[in-house]
Amino acid sequence: MLRLVTPHLFLDSVLELTAARLRAEGRTGLLLDVDCTLKDYHDRHIRPAVIAWAAALRHDGMRLCLLSNGGAERIERLAQTLRIPFVARALKPLPYGCRSALRTLELRPEQTAIVGDQLFADVLAGRLAGLFTILVRPTSPAEPLWTRIKRPLERRVLRRITRRNGIASPILTH
Ligand SMILES: [Mg+2]
Repeated sequence: MLRLVTPHLFLDSVLELTAARLRAEGRTGLLLDVDCTLKDYHDRHIRPAVIAWAAALRHDGMRLCLLSNGGAERIERLAQTLRIPFVARALKPLPYGCRSALRTLELRPEQTAIVGDQLFADVLAGRLAGLFTILVRPTSPAEPLWTRIKRPLERRVLRRITRRNGIASPILTH
């Protein structure tokens, strides 16, 4: 059970993720969570550094797709900024949104990774869909109420995972 919420890789920020690292795992596709992964929850826009990072990944041959539980109109606008496809109302942690994104990218699960800031949404959905899962530190402490409610349990589980795997410091600070 713990395996289903254990990320394959921990990073501070998506900006640390490179095409070379993904390729080393045999991945050519990357599903991207939006809120608190690519941008702060309250931000309406994605920062230029993140836009440039996504463009570099695409230039390096990676296929990207936004995967968010957010509404279609908002997520579509952000996807247009990045010039990539999107799946909105993804119902993470259920795996259906991941599968829909895989169909869009025409990739198999074993060719694809997912990056996000929540164990019980992004990592669990990715694990259920058979993807390589990457957990990043949330970009900001401002989060919707439902996410804030989940965080204490998430921190407890994450401490267990990091202890068990010999990882020095838990990634979540808030
Ligand atoms: Mg998120």
